[in-house]
Amino acid sequence: MRLPFDNSYAAELKGLYAPWRGAPVPDPRMVLFNGELAEALGLDPQALNSPRGAAVLAGAEVPEGAAPLAQVYAGHQFGGFSPQLGDGRALLLGEVIDPTGARWDLHLKGSGPTPFARGGDGKAVLGPVLREYLMGEAMHALGIPTSRALAAVVTGERIVRDGGPKPGAVLARVASSHLRVGTLEFFAARGQREHLAQLVDYALRRHAPDRAEADDPALELLRFVRDAQARLVALWMGVGFIHGVMNTDNTTLSGETLDYGPCAFMDRYDPATVFSSIDRGGRYAYGNQPGIMQWNLARLAEALVPLLVARDTTEAVALATAEVEAFEPRYRAEWSAVLGRKLGLDEGGLPADPDTDPLVRDLFALLREQDVDFTGFFRRLSAVLTGDSAPVRALFDDPEAGGAWVDRWRARVDVAGEGAVERAAAMDRVNPIYIPRNHLVEPALQAAEAELDIGALETLLALLREPYRRRPGMEGFAEPAPPDFGPYVTYCGT
Ligand code: AMP
Ligand code: MG
Repeated sequence: MRLPFDNSYAAELKGLYAPWRGAPVPDPRMVLFNGELAEALGLDPQALNSPRGAAVLAGAEVPEGAAPLAQVYAGHQFGGFSPQLGDGRALLLGEVIDPTGARWDLHLKGSGPTPFARGGDGKAVLGPVLREYLMGEAMHALGIPTSRALAAVVTGERIVRDGGPKPGAVLARVASSHLRVGTLEFFAARGQREHLAQLVDYALRRHAPDRAEADDPALELLRFVRDAQARLVALWMGVGFIHGVMNTDNTTLSGETLDYGPCAFMDRYDPATVFSSIDRGGRYAYGNQPGIMQWNLARLAEALVPLLVARDTTEAVALATAEVEAFEPRYRAEWSAVLGRKLGLDEGGLPADPDTDPLVRDLFALLREQDVDFTGFFRRLSAVLTGDSAPVRALFDDPEAGGAWVDRWRARVDVAGEGAVERAAAMDRVNPIYIPRNHLVEPALQAAEAELDIGALETLLALLREPYRRRPGMEGFAEPAPPDFGPYVTYCGT
């Protein structure tokens, strides 16, 4: 099999990765294949969605044109620095250029141990692979920058994990790159300034080509990542997404969501929401995500200090610090825009810091006090504009209190007649009906892992691919978890 690869990482960054290949597998079979994505990439869906394609996407067969490699990176994990992580169980198979000219990594996760496996088996199991598949597709459909799944392949192996043997699997995923904050941290920690500079140049050319000629490329990259991540986290917050493991090795330079492990969506609004079993201190709780992203950007800034154009280190640190501090206003402005759209307000209808607006402050206090379903609330709010406030009021433990806030909000959205209908429609285009709710995702993944039955998963995937369109008969999929579900715990995808 031949794939139209154009491998810039392999060609331009020699010495910064390990050329490698996937482990052989007994019986590769396609479980899910993303034909729409394959087509968008300019790949031949029929050729790939085949037994041969399954072997290639499991990493067991190297297609012509590929230059598979394991990327090395470091990272701050839960605040502590690990000087060498790297792709322990993943391969960059190659890059493809889509018909619009955009470059994409084709990356395999679970394709066997690499030189950076640190004693791990290099494998992945089906449940977490399908979880990443589903989450990435859901996020993409919600308009959130993300890696996407091209395929999930079972390998025919049984992999021993905590709960006993599980079907082995590989996720083939696509991202605008797999460069991480941790990629730069790796070379910075080793004092390899040349490699660091090479990576900065490469990252800028790839993700911000219009800034590649900047006088201070490292500073320019810091600004770019800061702004991309400020936007990304605001979008996460707008849908109640909790990444769960925002280590710097899972933080991209591109501003895409990467590495779906113990991530989950929040049902009832509570900023302290945490699902991950390993996040005992709640470091990566919903409400902490903006602050953690800024912390991660500070680690990026530290890595870049040696490259900054400055008289001395003191000046370089000051430059970098100012850029990291600018994350806060930047994030607030992004959040103001996201929340303003969700609330159907005019552009600029919220202050640059939405928390200073009593309407916003009171809303979030109320949502929390009254255990209100986050997604359901925003979706039902639009109906108020067309005359029906009962559905949104019903979400509050005390519908009177909810109703009083809704009346204040209605007075603020100063539209009537046709304008109100249009405004409601605009809100419905940004407030999803369907999100990957934990009580739906979990049984779907369990059925897939236990019996290779992907029926429930496919139903869910179909809804999540059009999250704003109401489907008759599917009302139950829009409901919060039943009271007997939970407390819900997620596990890292190992
Ligand atoms: P993750 O939690 O998936 O972001 O992984 C953190 C790091 O551990 C990454 O560098 C992975 O490549 C590595 N890793 C996770 N699971 C395995 C495994 N089973 N074998 C080898 N490396 C692994
Ligand atoms: Mg990771």
